[in-house]
Amino acid sequence: MHDTYLHNNESLPFESYPSRGRVLLGQVRGSNCRHGYGLEFMRLTGQTRCAYCGLNLADVYENWLNMALDHVIPYSACQLWKVPAEWCEDYSNRVLSCMTCNTFGNRYSPRNLSRPSTLDEFYNLRDVIFSERKGLILERHRQERAFFATKPWTV
Ligand SMILES: [Zn+2]
Repeated sequence: MHDTYLHNNESLPFESYPSRGRVLLGQVRGSNCRHGYGLEFMRLTGQTRCAYCGLNLADVYENWLNMALDHVIPYSACQLWKVPAEWCEDYSNRVLSCMTCNTFGNRYSPRNLSRPSTLDEFYNLRDVIFSERKGLILERHRQERAFFATKPWTV
């Protein structure tokens, strides 16, 4: 069901953000994703799909329950690089995600990348990190899909 989306590796989700996601868009606030910041993010960007696997979170109720808003440049990396919190916590550093991809991606830590000192460098880095994380997350999906295909619940 996701195949066409998964092979479309060229497009970045930020293309549909206001100003193509290369300006600060507002701080992510509050603690409620579906009724608060996640919903606001959907309205702001027009996106309803997980940026990694393509699951449409507005399609059916069960998908809706899996809505998460993922940091692209992780909070820990922002702290390490002393990136301003306003950049890290801005909508422009977020993508819509399903909870599975959010979990599959949460161990990522960037290597061999240099500290961004301008907002422009921050967005360049964000784009690189997004593509890297998407590759890792989709690899986790391939492994899990192969495991699922063995019907491990049957004996
Ligand atoms: Zn996903």
